[in-house]
This record gives sequence, C-alpha cells and structure tokens, in this order.
Amino acid sequence: MSEDYDGPILDNHLHLDPEHGRGMDAVEDFARAGGTHLLVVNKPSWMLEDVADDESIFRAVFETTVETVDRANEVLPGRAWPVLGVHPALISKLTGRGYTPEEARDIMQAGLDVAAEFVADGPALALKSGRPHYDVGDPIWDASNNVMKHAFELGAETGSAVQLHTEGGEDFSDVAAWAEERGLPAKRVVKHYSGGRLDGPTKSVLSNEDELEVAVEENEPFLMETDFIDDPDRPGAVLGPKTVPRRVEWLLDSDRVDAVRTAHVETPASVYGIDLEATL
Ligand SMILES: [Zn+2]
Repeated sequence: MSEDYDGPILDNHLHLDPEHGRGMDAVEDFARAGGTHLLVVNKPSWMLEDVADDESIFRAVFETTVETVDRANEVLPGRAWPVLGVHPALISKLTGRGYTPEEARDIMQAGLDVAAEFVADGPALALKSGRPHYDVGDPIWDASNNVMKHAFELGAETGSAVQLHTEGGEDFSDVAAWAEERGLPAKRVVKHYSGGRLDGPTKSVLSNEDELEVAVEENEPFLMETDFIDDPDRPGAVLGPKTVPRRVEWLLDSDRVDAVRTAHVETPASVYGIDLEATL
C-alpha cells in the first residue's frame, strides 16, 4: 500500500448482514482495498423480530453476529471481533408498543447483560449502548441515560470498552464522567459516528476527508469507521466497506503516517487492549 506503512487497517464500526446484504462480499472488498481488521456491530434486534422484549431475541441476534465474524475471519488477513449491544432507538419501539420508559429500560439493560456474557465468555470484544440521536421527552431521555450507565457498569465489570451511539456534538465530557464514576476509564468509551473533534470519550471518526483532517489536526487518539450498514434497501446510506483503506491511503499520500499509526495501532491497543500488528 505504501512504503511507509504496511501495518493493520481497522474499520472500527460496521455491520454485516450475510442473509440480506452483501455479507462476505463486503469483507472481500475491504480486504482487497487493503483492510485487515474489523469490529462488527450487531444489527438492531428489530431486524430479527419487530420488537425485542425478550432476552432470547437479543441472544439470537448476538449469536448471528458471532457466526458472521467467524466467517469474516476466514477472509481477512487480520481478524474481526464482534461488538454487541442494544440499539438506543429500541426504547422508542418499546414505548410505542405500550411499555413504560422504565419497563423499556429494564428490557434493554437485560439485553446488555446478555451482551456482557458474550464479552466475559470470550467471543465479543466490546459492548454497544447509547441514547437516541433524535429528540425525545424527559422520561425516555432519563431512561436512556440509565441504560447507558448500566452499560458502563458492565464495561467496568468485564474490562471492556463501550461503543456509544448518541446525538451529535463535540462535548461528551459529562458522559465520560459517568463512565469514570462507574470504574470505566473515559478512553474506553468510544463515540461512534463522531466528527473530528470530541471532548470526553475516544472518537471513532466517520471517514470523510473533512472530518479526518480535523481529527489529524487535533492530534489526539482516534479511530476510523464507515458505519457500513449492509442494507440492500438503503444503498449508499453510509460509507462503503472500501472507504477506510482508501482514506488510509490518502493520509499516507500526504505523509501522515503518524496519524495512521494512531488510528490503526495505538488507539485500538489502548481502548480495546488488542494488538493488531500481532494479529496480522
Ligand atoms: Zn452502526
């Protein structure tokens, strides 16, 4: 790829749906473009069952993701890991079906407990939680924050990072403080779909050139992602699977090898405790 860099290239957040989407073709595209490692986030539980209000549905969704990752491991020069959790928008689906925000909170926390089992038992690397990215009333907002705080407790207990799906913005220092209060270091909280500037958690930057420029300028730890959703009904809704390797090439072409090492070696090691160079 470049004479300056022959190290790992990680997409920190994407989804794969071998049943309905491109599945392993997308993984092959990623690998052919130079990508080596993937963090595969489970699809929302409502893709499987309209409303997940039962632990067994979460378990089935997580098992599907683990199987998909096993298949991706056959294709990648490095490897993939599952990131498992409960999509924050589930709260609206549940309350829309008549559950109170508190009942919805309990269901979602139980789903996170199942995800934490997968982390503790080995196959999953990290948890996923957050709060709605759209406007909601106070009861749903408060319940969502409590779901997220529960994820931080589980992250502290299992020694794993927590990826967050939240509203946009640049100051999430209050959220990072909630994690610290529960024993989870702020750096192990990862804001997915982040812009290049962020206070509090570690940023996982959606790999547009503009935002990457900002992240490189900021000179802090960061990760790169596409949030590829592998949904045939929404082609082009997000970045494609080749985007991270292409943006790495673009960074290397402008002599920013240090930034590439930050995003693909050092930050993954400090956030998740994974040695991507050793798994190449
Ligand atoms: Zn996503």
